[in-house]
Amino acid sequence: MSFDKNRVIIFDTTLRDGEQSPGCSMNHEEKLRMARLLDDMGVDVIEAGFPIASKGDFEAVHAIAGEAKNAVIAGLCRTVKKDIEATAEAIKPAKRQRIHTFISTSPLHMKYKLQMEPEAVIEKIHECVSFARNFTDDVEWSAEDGSRTEDDFLCRAVETAIKAGATTINIPDTVGYATPEDYAARFRMLIERVPNIDKAILSAHCHNDLGLAVANSLAAVQAGARQVECTINGIGERAGNAALEEIVMAIRTRPDRLPYTNNIQTTMITQVSRALSDVTGFTCQPNKAIVGANAFAHESGIHQDGMLKNAQTYEIMTPESVGLDKSELVLGKHSGRHAFRKKLEALGYKLGENALEDAFARFKDLADAQKKVSDDELIALVAQNVAHMERKGI
Ligand SMILES: [Zn+2]
Repeated sequence: MSFDKNRVIIFDTTLRDGEQSPGCSMNHEEKLRMARLLDDMGVDVIEAGFPIASKGDFEAVHAIAGEAKNAVIAGLCRTVKKDIEATAEAIKPAKRQRIHTFISTSPLHMKYKLQMEPEAVIEKIHECVSFARNFTDDVEWSAEDGSRTEDDFLCRAVETAIKAGATTINIPDTVGYATPEDYAARFRMLIERVPNIDKAILSAHCHNDLGLAVANSLAAVQAGARQVECTINGIGERAGNAALEEIVMAIRTRPDRLPYTNNIQTTMITQVSRALSDVTGFTCQPNKAIVGANAFAHESGIHQDGMLKNAQTYEIMTPESVGLDKSELVLGKHSGRHAFRKKLEALGYKLGENALEDAFARFKDLADAQKKVSDDELIALVAQNVAHMERKGI
């Protein structure tokens, strides 16, 4: 995909892991709309669905594959031949196709979920990855519950998958159990111990059960992973997946600590985030990083005053960089005169000192009574203000 050793492949699974979370299901047209946006935004790999799961999933993957301009289109499948065949069929129209196959490797999952002996799991990996390579030379293999898999067994499984032809090796933290340090150590261990590791790209896939999905993903990149699997707005099973926008903006904002490149056009982030909220009806909490309604909003007087003097005083990235017009100075009871005057000017009102004082005093009363003062209320307040001053003979 790229020979830049610091290039991070952004693998978006909004339409697969994200879509399978409660309340986030999307219909055919909605999936196509999201896939077009993801492709335009520069996502490298779009995991479009799980073709064997349903006829609808198969059709959506097939349609997305037919439309994709640049992105690799991936379909997920178990290590079962008929799953792999269905996926190969679904992604066939894509210019660039990937089969993503997975099997659990942790003792807990092998014993209770798969009810398979470890040796049989190793055989299955070899058999299914080789089989998938008959359809495409881009095959990803995932060690489900990888963060709870024993080191020796994980090394064997990874070596087997690469030998069978896997070109990407994903080590998911399926249950959101990892911490940045131990997750990074897992990648370093694989790089050190697996003899053919240089023949594959390592990938991180993190869940946010402990609120660590983005931190874990970035720790994996620092340890040598060069693909991150993530979703828009961090949607996904349970507490969600690592949020694409947070990973990308962390890399962009802190090149001193995270000297990596990627292909995402960050100015599309807001648009894509809102489109997803629109199709799923799943809005972000206001304080959500990067895309929450308050992510670039300032209310406190001290912060607003600083922002008006120089935005860098309280902003580490510009709203324009994620496609927002400008930061919002929210007028509320914490706001000061400076922001109040600026806001009125922006609305077309230039008041003299006395009039401003008068309006400001009544604005504070209103802001005390309610949490936020809207532009319409401000306009009404200034209109009242004129009448008020006339009565007072100012
Ligand atoms: Zn997942």
